[in-house]
Amino acid sequence: MLTVASPADALAAIQEHFGAIRTRVVSVPLAESLGRVLAEDIRSREDVPGFDRSTMDGYAVHAQDTFGATEALPAMLKPVGTVHMGQVPAFSLNKGECAYIPTGGELPQGADGVVMVEYTENLNDGFLYVQSSIAPGANVIYRGDDVKEGQLLMKQGQVIRPQEVGALAALGVPLAPVYERLRVGILSTGDELVEVSAPQTGSVVRDVNTYALSAGLSAIGAEPVRYGITKDDHASLTAALSIALRECDAVLISGGSSVGTADMTRRIIDEAGRPGVFLHGVAVKPGKPTIVGDIGGKPVFGLPGHPVSAYFIFRIFAAPILQRMMGVIREQPREAFAIMGRNVPSNHGRQEYLPVALTEEDGRKVALPVASKSGLITTLVGADGFVCIPRDAEGLMRGQHVTVTLF
Ligand code: AMP
Ligand code: MG
Repeated sequence: MLTVASPADALAAIQEHFGAIRTRVVSVPLAESLGRVLAEDIRSREDVPGFDRSTMDGYAVHAQDTFGATEALPAMLKPVGTVHMGQVPAFSLNKGECAYIPTGGELPQGADGVVMVEYTENLNDGFLYVQSSIAPGANVIYRGDDVKEGQLLMKQGQVIRPQEVGALAALGVPLAPVYERLRVGILSTGDELVEVSAPQTGSVVRDVNTYALSAGLSAIGAEPVRYGITKDDHASLTAALSIALRECDAVLISGGSSVGTADMTRRIIDEAGRPGVFLHGVAVKPGKPTIVGDIGGKPVFGLPGHPVSAYFIFRIFAAPILQRMMGVIREQPREAFAIMGRNVPSNHGRQEYLPVALTEEDGRKVALPVASKSGLITTLVGADGFVCIPRDAEGLMRGQHVTVTLF
């Protein structure tokens, strides 16, 4: 018997069981930190840049010495040195003096601005002719202008992108504190399933879910552990789940989640430990026969075998909690706004996830349902995302504005 929960209740129950669990904190080399989740706030331990530096090739000056300078009436300054990259200038500037400085060079003591080289003329007669007036601070980045010591730069729970990797490098953080990846076991169940390399003879079905779910897990930063195909047989399933639970932090079982005679997923999850299954049946389409169990704090999902259902349930109910366990604070779904290109009835009393393809018509984005009764392959391969049709809606009307969650 399925006691069907609403999607919101299902998500809340999942959150209640696992929402407070986090994986361990580990340090990873910066070069391997992309996509990982920060386990600590990152504050700068120093000012960046660490010195006042020029943003231009030009001459370091006392700005006041240039006041009123024009092309017709240049200021005459005395060059007293050259700034070299990566070296603290060994001299300081007195009034009336200047020094050549390259972009990124350290401003000598006494200087408070840089005149671009384009506004100067060096006739090698012992003077530099400055043809433009600059304000104090012109073309200079001061120590700490980018980041001040103690400044909060990144927050715990943030996913590290290339720009964060760069910022951590600038801050002198060679090891990023991140949450350990979650190891998630995948079991595909079904007497009809065969390996991907097997011929399609008779009524066998190639195992799609092992690969689709594995890729889905990799995409959210988890570490998939594939246990292959298991027959619809109590002993085999029990043994496979027991190994997966020993080796992993969470398990996805696909197939056998309904109430047919060969459907054993609920029972084997329940028998695996405490507190056991707390959810069986969610009012969604596709994917109603969904099971979620809690085995000693490890989530075990019983996903429907149909690959489209398995994918949607993974994406909507499993992925968010797995990401949360890996420390992700909020994962903004990528969305597009479009208008429906066709009427779509939907009145079966369940929230529906409708795969759509996006096209452009007269400069407007149009969402077209990827029609197929229960196409395994074409439905998701042809879709750019999905539209969520609420339970009490009669469907979608052609021309209606919709939000498409992008895959
Ligand atoms: P089940 O949820 O076990 O009742 O399976 C529902 C449908 O999905 C059946 O047609 C199965 O053959 C199919 N199916 C189950 N598991 C997989 C899988 N791993 N790959 C492809 N199809 C599957
Ligand atoms: Mg089955």
